[in-house]
Amino acid sequence: MLYRQQVLDLPHGELHTPVLFPVRNLGKRSSDNTPAYVDMIPDLPTAMINARAIRNRDPMWERLTDGVTLREEMGVPENTIVYADSGGYDFSQTAPDTTPRETLETQRLFDADIFGTVDIPLSRENRAAKNQRRIDRSVELALEASDRHNGDELLLASVHGYDPETIQNSIRYLEIRGDFDGYALGSLVPIRTDYKKVTKLVLAARTATEKHLHVYGLGGLVYQPLLLYLGVDSFDSSAFIRSAGNRNYLLPGFGGEELWNIDELEYLPCPCPVCGSRTLNDIREDRDALVKHNLWALAAELRRFRYVSAAGKDIEDYLDLRFQGNEVTQRAYRTAKQQVRRLS
Ligand SMILES: [Zn+2]
Repeated sequence: MLYRQQVLDLPHGELHTPVLFPVRNLGKRSSDNTPAYVDMIPDLPTAMINARAIRNRDPMWERLTDGVTLREEMGVPENTIVYADSGGYDFSQTAPDTTPRETLETQRLFDADIFGTVDIPLSRENRAAKNQRRIDRSVELALEASDRHNGDELLLASVHGYDPETIQNSIRYLEIRGDFDGYALGSLVPIRTDYKKVTKLVLAARTATEKHLHVYGLGGLVYQPLLLYLGVDSFDSSAFIRSAGNRNYLLPGFGGEELWNIDELEYLPCPCPVCGSRTLNDIREDRDALVKHNLWALAAELRRFRYVSAAGKDIEDYLDLRFQGNEVTQRAYRTAKQQVRRLS
């Protein structure tokens, strides 16, 4: 049984894990177009932001260096838990244009609670030697951040690798040479349809450390239960925004549904505060409502898992049911189950 719950004592408050960090696409466009959710969903007082993207947006950056707080800029309460990643995902093709020192200064200016180290993601298309250089460089950059970091914020070392040994070796190496509060697994988005492989990589990280484990980019509806089962402590997702952009309505157990496929329904099958009292037509025409509902769907997924655990029900029985509908994810879950059972 790898599912676990912990409480993190962070500068802006206590955080109960496992937890989702919704990605705020702050800095990506002219303004932050994520609707307010922090007060609406009480168990998601969390936000994931991209430190580099904000630093590269001049007007916002000027306000922040002028004394406006990041939370004011986002329109969220001061006790919102912010995870600032380095923006390494933008370096998929190019060399990083930031240093551990600059990134730490930015994360500190934002008053972030969790800092991600500068990293250089892998690509499935890269040759092994090129990916290996990127893995080694990310390890060096993490150690440099460890040397420069002293504070109450959590420092999570970003770790990459497309085989379990590389991930375990990286974590063990960093554990000996650096001082980290946990680890964050990256580069999984490009291989996300290979559930079996992703499962093995996550398990490799989980068994290499007892510390906090974050997985970047895989917090959507399908992966969430799998990550919880594998003992991941936190994850992030922009699926609620991206899906809404495609008019996709997320529903736990069903995945996404394109709303224009449905005509003969007056009310949607979701009791969340967004959908509960509004008609399908109403929601279909309101992008913000769709984004908010989609986030409720992700929160509900997490709440159900917590319920199954708190009520003492068998998590594997629940997941057997949960993954029944889709052959691909069912196979992935079976593989995960076999591997988890082998550990005990
Ligand atoms: Zn809803």
